[in-house]
Amino acid sequence: MRGIRSPLRGIGTLPRRAIRRLRHLRPRTFQARLTVAFTAVVAGTLLIVAMLVINRVGAYFDQQQQDDLEARANAVGQYVILIAQDTATIRAGKDVVNESGVVDEAVVTELSHEERLRLVADRLAQADVRFQLGLLTPNGGFQPAANGAFVATERAPAEPGQTREHLTSAPLRVELASAAVPYAVEVTLVNPYTFRASAIANVAGLLAIIGLVALLVAIVVAAGLARRFTTPLRRLTEAAGDLAEGDLARRVPSDSVRAGATELAELGLQFNAMAERLQESVDIIRRDRDRSREFLADVSHELRTPIAALRTFNELLVEGAAEDPTTRSEFLESSRAQLERLDWLALNLLELSKLDSGLVLLDLRPEDLRATVEQAVDQAAASARRRGIELTVEVPDEPLPIRHDPVRVGQVVTNLVGNGLKFTARGGRVQVRVRATAAGAEILVADTGMGIDPAEMPRIFDRFFRGARATEARGSGSGLGLAIVRSIVEMHGGSVTVESRLGEGSVFRVDLPVSPTGPAERVAETSSSEAPNRNAAAPR
Ligand code: ADP
Repeated sequence: MRGIRSPLRGIGTLPRRAIRRLRHLRPRTFQARLTVAFTAVVAGTLLIVAMLVINRVGAYFDQQQQDDLEARANAVGQYVILIAQDTATIRAGKDVVNESGVVDEAVVTELSHEERLRLVADRLAQADVRFQLGLLTPNGGFQPAANGAFVATERAPAEPGQTREHLTSAPLRVELASAAVPYAVEVTLVNPYTFRASAIANVAGLLAIIGLVALLVAIVVAAGLARRFTTPLRRLTEAAGDLAEGDLARRVPSDSVRAGATELAELGLQFNAMAERLQESVDIIRRDRDRSREFLADVSHELRTPIAALRTFNELLVEGAAEDPTTRSEFLESSRAQLERLDWLALNLLELSKLDSGLVLLDLRPEDLRATVEQAVDQAAASARRRGIELTVEVPDEPLPIRHDPVRVGQVVTNLVGNGLKFTARGGRVQVRVRATAAGAEILVADTGMGIDPAEMPRIFDRFFRGARATEARGSGSGLGLAIVRSIVEMHGGSVTVESRLGEGSVFRVDLPVSPTGPAERVAETSSSEAPNRNAAAPR
């Protein structure tokens, strides 16, 4: 049967294709969909109302028509009786229908008269009419007379607004019980002219016009409302688009946020909050990137200085300076100092990057903080003596068990004391004090040195930051010492602050909790092999 195509095959695909085509016509935008939905609801409601109204009006007109036809039939009956009475009884003194059930001949002739029938059909009944004369039986029944049936066909044209109804009314009996021989006439109207159809058509037409106007109003109102509803959404979309293209300062305007429904207003506010946070994050990333660039530039600069000095010494020695033993030992001594500086720089950079990257694991021990501080101060004693500065340490009498990394906290004290010595003139004083606090302990390092310029204060903990007057001081430095101090203190869950007055001195205050919590808590209590064997950022 291969190759024979079933004639029914294409039928199923037709509706599917029609549905697909209809789907293409479906409105795409939210505004259009809202408008269509609103209009559809209004149109549906109007349709239901119109159908109900037409149904009720139809029933009302049916009743009206029935009453009207009855009235017409009654008029015909009364007329027939009037003519019959006049013809038989009044003029000839006879019965209209005698007791044998026969209609008087004169009456038959009179009623069969063309003019009479025309009057009955065209004027009184406005329909084809069948009427039947007969006897009224004593029990109220009707006995048709053999010669009493008449038919009148309507010939007159319909009046304006009238139409012919194809129906036959129920026979209506008009009696004359008061006659000597009681008789009656039964009237039936066939295919009458009525106003019912045109009245219904009028009402339907009126309803259609009202419905159409209502629908147009609904479309306009729906379009306006949908536009109003969707304006905040459009603003949101525009803002999101601009944001996606990199305009991070873009927000949804506050008036269109407030103009929308509560949910949309909430969405707009959330969007703005999200954009705000995004901008902040990007700003932070940019700042970090700039700082990294600066940091790299600073590192290169710091490395180049000793390397350039070493190269100069080397060239001078090659060019013959080596022949003079004094110059040679002077150059070699300077080279050694530069190499030491390079080594120190590399050590500090390595230390700082390890601290920053979180690679450093603290060797936390619940040891006496007094011992850690005293040991670090002792190491600086020789340097203080050389510089002619009084270095004192004051510790509480009771042991101060603080969970800390002794080597790193020692490094903090070394850096702070080193700075104190560096920035204090001969004859000055550097005091180190350890105290217990409610949270743990504090280490104060106070000096009577040159103090810190308030303008520089916010930056002194930045890497490579060196105060403008730092080079005037005897010490040299690379601006890494305080950055390392802050990193170590923060890893212990503590904080470092400074108070200083120009020309009077500075006080650095380190607060340490009894036990570090948070990330520091998680660091393994590793062997001290992890810790550096030399104190980084020691004063040179
Ligand atoms: P370095 O001492 O190597 O320059 P630091 O990070 O230790 O770097 O210090 C940064 C800067 O902070 C110093 O250059 C100096 O201007 C200022 N500073 C730090 N400690 C003191 C102090 N005790 N007295 C005055 N200024 C200080």
